[in-house]
Amino acid sequence: MTELKRTPLPLPDGFDPKKERLLLHSCCAPCSGEVMEAIHASGVEYAVFFYNPNIHPAKEYEIRKEENIRFAEKHNVPFIDADYDTDNWFARAKGMEFEPERGIRCTMCFDMRFERTALYAHEHNYSMISSSLGISRWKDMQQINDCGHRAAAHYSGLTYWDYNWRKLGGSQRMIEISKREQFYQQEYCGCVYSLRDTNRHRREQGRERIQIGVQYYG
Ligand code: SF4
Repeated sequence: MTELKRTPLPLPDGFDPKKERLLLHSCCAPCSGEVMEAIHASGVEYAVFFYNPNIHPAKEYEIRKEENIRFAEKHNVPFIDADYDTDNWFARAKGMEFEPERGIRCTMCFDMRFERTALYAHEHNYSMISSSLGISRWKDMQQINDCGHRAAAHYSGLTYWDYNWRKLGGSQRMIEISKREQFYQQEYCGCVYSLRDTNRHRREQGRERIQIGVQYYG
C-alpha cells in the first residue's frame, strides 16, 4: 500500500492484531480511504463491508460502491458487497421523511447499517467492527458511536472500535487521498430525503440541482 508515513493507531484494550480481525463498515470511498490506510498502517487484518441500502438512487449507489471496490482491489483488501435492500430501509424510515439530518432518521439509518455489520461479523468470526461514517465532519460522531456500540452489544466477544478517525490529521488526509485517487465526490449524504433537502438548500442559494455521477475530486 502506498500510504503516507504515519503512527500506528492505539488499538482497543484486549484486541490482538496477531489473532483477531476487524470488519470495517464503509459508507463510501472518500470516507474510507483514510480509514483504510490508517488501519493498514496499524497492522490490523480487516475486510470492507459495504452495506448502504440508504443510498438513492441506484445509479448513485452503484457509483459509490464501484469507487470503493476500486480502492479495495488496489490495496488487496477483501470487499464484502452486502444487500441493497432498499425496501427494508424505506420501511424503517416510514414516518421520518421530514426529520432533519442528525435526527432520529439518521439514528435509524446508522443502527440498520451497524446491525447488519455486527451480524456478519458474528457469523464470520470477526471480533471487532468499526465504520468510516464518523470521519465526515457533517456527521455527529457521538450518534454514530452510540449506534455502533448498541449493535456490537448483541454479540458476546464483539467490540465496536470508536476511534476518532478525524484525529492526527485524519480529516486532512481524507481530502488528500480523495484527490490523489480522484474519487467520485458525492454531494449529499445518501438517502432520497437528504437529496431532496440538499437540492432545496441549493435552490435557495441560487445553485443548480445535484447531478448524479458528475463531480470527481482532483
Ligand atoms: S441523511 Fe444520511 S444518515 Fe440520515 S437517513 Fe439519510 S442517508 Fe441516512
